[in-house]
Amino acid sequence: METIANYINGELRNPITGNYLDDVNPATAQIFARIPLSKEEDLKTAVDSAEKAFPQWSSITAKQRANYLIKIAELINDNLDELAVAESKDTGKPIQLAKTVDIPRASANLEFFAHAITQFSSESHASQNVINYTLRKPIGVVACISPWNLPLYLFTWKIAPALAAGNCVIAKPSEITPYTAYLFSKICIEAGLPKGVLNILHGAGSEIGDAIVQSKKIKAISFTGGTATGRKIAATSAPMFRKISLELGGKNPALVFADCDLEKTVKELVRASFSNQGEICLCASRIYIEDSLYEAFKTKFVKEVKLLEVGDPSDHSNNMGSLVSKQHLAKVKSYVELAKAEGGVLLCGDEPLELGEEIKNGYFLRPHVFENLTNQCRTNQEEIFGPVVSLNRFRSEEEGLSLANESEYGLASSLWTNDLSKAHRIANQIETGIVWINCWMNRDLRTPFGGMKNSGLGREGGLEALRFFTEPKNICLQY
Ligand code: NAD
Repeated sequence: METIANYINGELRNPITGNYLDDVNPATAQIFARIPLSKEEDLKTAVDSAEKAFPQWSSITAKQRANYLIKIAELINDNLDELAVAESKDTGKPIQLAKTVDIPRASANLEFFAHAITQFSSESHASQNVINYTLRKPIGVVACISPWNLPLYLFTWKIAPALAAGNCVIAKPSEITPYTAYLFSKICIEAGLPKGVLNILHGAGSEIGDAIVQSKKIKAISFTGGTATGRKIAATSAPMFRKISLELGGKNPALVFADCDLEKTVKELVRASFSNQGEICLCASRIYIEDSLYEAFKTKFVKEVKLLEVGDPSDHSNNMGSLVSKQHLAKVKSYVELAKAEGGVLLCGDEPLELGEEIKNGYFLRPHVFENLTNQCRTNQEEIFGPVVSLNRFRSEEEGLSLANESEYGLASSLWTNDLSKAHRIANQIETGIVWINCWMNRDLRTPFGGMKNSGLGREGGLEALRFFTEPKNICLQY
């Protein structure tokens, strides 16, 4: 069995206490690696090395820092196959998805911020005999904490802007899917990243995650994960007046109008609902359909969903793999039962799965589609984060908008219509940080990314991330 190591001060290190957690392949239910159960002592050595590295890393040119990121991006590309296999093994996601989405995006994140930092400029304001200009200085030692659903993709999405802006980083990947972050630390060593600039600590959120958040030496935290964890981080950080960026949960609505392109809408919404087994924060989970199109949409949608192949993630013909863990499968299944208890009618999902010998104990679940649920019921209000969606009716634009906005979350939405005036009108009023019109998860890394309400605080992406990871200082000169 392999042993994952922390990455501290430029080298791989075992946890000081010598304690480990299990890393499980959710498609086979087999333990395949050990994960360091890091504690405060490990954090101390990581913070010391980051603090030592900061003066040098923050004073080299942006171009020099960018060159390191480009080198790391190239090494990710060179190791695409190994990284994709590892990501699939750790998460249960189809290997094809890891190969075409997760790993290429991880490389793109580094490349994007390498270029962005060389184009990043600060403001200046001139009036009569006064000039104001603003410096944007790196903050110091910052933390990046990421979840299990898109492991290397989201890990690098945070680390890249933090490093590009000149900060030194303490990074904590999810203990459920740590493997590609471990391979990433080996890549950083190969790329010659100066020691201490990036430190990767593995372990439990409640232990090393909490220790990072409690540490006064951490000057900013970029976090992606659940709303409950985000709330804890916000509560601990508030009295420290520390910068935080929180990308949290979602319960994303899709509004389907009678005048949409039905073929395209069904195809894209099947993808939006069940990509990565529905374990993407941006997945649609509440689909609202205009009354006159409801039956036609339902028939087509359910037919397409039934065609999705669920099974061995390493088999390229499968569209969906396993859920990420036994606990998560139990949680999602409990929502399926709840939906039934709340009066939901199951349109598909309960047909038995035939799984091969090797994966017969894996955490697989067919895509589930419900109808006949009220908008206020828990199934339609709480984040399930799995392959469960509901179909709901609306009779007017106002009603559709109001149903979509009746949620404590506000991450992403999608609108499906050929009436562009209507689309823009609704896009302006819908309470989500991201709105897609006639598409889903179409990402341009320059755009602000993040949610409203309980879906988070602040925005990632492009200049927003570089602004987050820098401290503005205004200088006023009179002449
Ligand atoms: P989680 O909150 O349980 O864990 C996220 C990370 O935080 C992990 O690394 C975990 O170890 C760590 N953590 C846990 N408790 C901590 C604590 N007390 N202090 C510090 N760190 C702690 O979330 P998860 O289950 O890994 O991820 C699923 C959630 O992430 C879903 O709610 C999903 O919507 C959300 N998510 C949001 C986005 C977005 O961009 N908005 C993207 C992906 C996932």
